[in-house]
Amino acid sequence: LTTGSVQFDGVVKKYGAVTALKKLDLMIEPGQLVTLLGPSGCGKTTTLRLIAGLEPATEGRILIGGQDVTHLSATYRKVSMVFQSYALFPHMSVLDNVAYGLTVKSMPKREAHEKAEEGLAMVGLAGYGPRLPSELSGGQQQRVAVARAIVLEPEVLLLDEPLSNLDAKLRRHVREEIRQIQQNLGLTAVYVTHDQEEAMAVSDRIIVMKDAEIAQEGTPHDLYERPSSSFIADFIGDANLIDCEVVQANGETADIEVAGQKLNVPNTDRPRGGARIVIRPHQIRLKPRVAGEGFEGVISYAAYLGNQVQYTVDGALGQLFVISNTTANPLAMGDSVSILMDPSEMRLVAE
Ligand code: ADP
Ligand code: MG
Repeated sequence: LTTGSVQFDGVVKKYGAVTALKKLDLMIEPGQLVTLLGPSGCGKTTTLRLIAGLEPATEGRILIGGQDVTHLSATYRKVSMVFQSYALFPHMSVLDNVAYGLTVKSMPKREAHEKAEEGLAMVGLAGYGPRLPSELSGGQQQRVAVARAIVLEPEVLLLDEPLSNLDAKLRRHVREEIRQIQQNLGLTAVYVTHDQEEAMAVSDRIIVMKDAEIAQEGTPHDLYERPSSSFIADFIGDANLIDCEVVQANGETADIEVAGQKLNVPNTDRPRGGARIVIRPHQIRLKPRVAGEGFEGVISYAAYLGNQVQYTVDGALGQLFVISNTTANPLAMGDSVSILMDPSEMRLVAE
């Protein structure tokens, strides 16, 4: 299989008065799985349809494998799409389903069946060809849909919310399978989801979209550790966002004031005046109240989950969500606590 990059150069997409994409620039490297993540209506499906050539761009250029395909029709683009409803033909065997796209391209039936057998083997379904789709589980049906897409030897595989028709238990399993198939074959894949955990679990890189543009892109680790805004911090993983005042932000660190206390934190986003600090639930420690230590709080809820305890704490910093892996002597509702945080783990973002 050959694998291609995908590049957008200032791509704008308008549907009449609706701007679905504002000047999008992106670069997806060959062999990577890149996820478009964002709330409903932010332009994810539109981006896929533009890559596939199912919609023309209003402005800008689209390149696949370095070739300008902006004006190339869908038929000639080496791209296959997997949809959320796997859309298998129910009356056709699994093998015929996988061979379908090849026969449409007028490949002789015998050769198409051979390719389809190979495709089924690639997704771990060798021998399932004679069955009907209804004789497979939902997860297996989605793998058939992936096989049907990859036998067309696309340079880029597009997946639009491929797990949304599966129940919660299967979703995790199938996303691992899709990721393994993509890695084993070295495919370039553009994956769409609105589920941040799913995006974190499968992606080399994530492009977070909001209101028809890119809000931030990076590896799952980058986005979690270095969110560039309150929106990203809140969207990727659980975050506590605490209001603060920036007193001085010139060097590597910034002096901030939080609930009457002065802290020196990494000067990440270089905001001025009103800002927020991001701190993750597992980065906060709680202990029975000691006067003058940390910030004051009271446990308003404690949920013992066996491997962790989750606390809601109200106090000087507003309401915080805290996860503690120390489960031996959990704090109880109503306990007064000192809230301890390491300023070097705080991330300063604009309001
Ligand atoms: P997502 O997949 O992120 O939920 P879409 O790409 O489907 O978002 O849609 C982005 C925006 O474009 C939305 O405001 C949507 O209503 C609009 N849109 C999408 N397709 C069409 C269309 N064919 N005609 C008019 N507006 C559309
Ligand atoms: Mg969509």
